[in-house]
Amino acid sequence: MAGLKQKIIRGGLESLYFSGAHVLLKPLVGGVGAILTLHHVRPGRPGRFQPNRILEITPRFFTRVVKYLRGAGLDLVSLDEMHRRLTERDFARRFVCLTFDDGYRDTLQCAYPILKEAGVPFAVYVATSFPDRLGELWWLALEAVIARNERIGLMIDGGNRTFDCATVAEKHALYNELYWWLRRRRTEEEMRGVIRNLAACYAVDIASFCKDLCMSWEELAELAADPLVTIGAHTVNHPMLAKLPEKVVRSEMDLSRSVIEAALAVRPEHLSFPIGDRSSAGPREFRIAADLGFKTAVTTRPGVLFAAHRQRLTALPRISLNGEFQRLRYVRVLLSGSATAMWNGFRRAEAA
Ligand SMILES: [Zn+2]
Repeated sequence: MAGLKQKIIRGGLESLYFSGAHVLLKPLVGGVGAILTLHHVRPGRPGRFQPNRILEITPRFFTRVVKYLRGAGLDLVSLDEMHRRLTERDFARRFVCLTFDDGYRDTLQCAYPILKEAGVPFAVYVATSFPDRLGELWWLALEAVIARNERIGLMIDGGNRTFDCATVAEKHALYNELYWWLRRRRTEEEMRGVIRNLAACYAVDIASFCKDLCMSWEELAELAADPLVTIGAHTVNHPMLAKLPEKVVRSEMDLSRSVIEAALAVRPEHLSFPIGDRSSAGPREFRIAADLGFKTAVTTRPGVLFAAHRQRLTALPRISLNGEFQRLRYVRVLLSGSATAMWNGFRRAEAA
């Protein structure tokens, strides 16, 4: 199913590009700017079972994207500058903000040198349990359990079930099934409980992903010292906030800001909602982020920015640079706003 969906998206992007429709639609749907979402920038790795590859692009492709953005007459701006332009209605030039979620070490090692050389500002949203080495990158633990086993057993809906996952195709199908089954659990705690059990049964060390992949506070301090870099908040434990009680949501947002301030001596004014889709962040989360005084907060709902987003500064859409679509022409189509406009049924600043 995931493969089919990717083919349909790719087909849509290709036809928008080759029909020229993205050029025709741009004045109508292109908006005033866009925020790009990135996770990993790192060289590709061998192996055919990499369900989380959508979250990574290569340094080579990233270099091309930065060059393209610079040459396309777009202003590459910080989140503060984006906020200024939106609130002061300064839309003389289209702008793009680059944002990195989670605080991976490759942001420092691979993306930063490219951005530093080009003088491009960017933001890193840090979930504080990651540099504290207490975070659970549960989607990677699930990938590891399936990658390392040919068959796994799991208690699902009160019954024991066994899943075969010997072949790459079976592994992909199972990852997809379990990922979405986990995401549908009623509470975050229930989902984490299943993953912890699964990891314990199959000897996967969840804590290792944090240590291996995420920046330490020292590494984050190196980035934070550069005026090109904005450090944003991304909660403490990276939960799907919409599933938590209001009090916990407030503390996840507020506490992460205080922890970052204590560790890096910068107080984050911008927030990214973990996971960030409809099931993770909705009107309640947008309101709480505004109440807590964040200047902006970003989702992963796809879309470009319109003037009307100045009324919804804590519910901003973004455009994800997806590892399955590493072609400049897709970036062009996505930034034209035409693809996301079609996905969103041509609604602009979407009602929350
Ligand atoms: Zn995240």
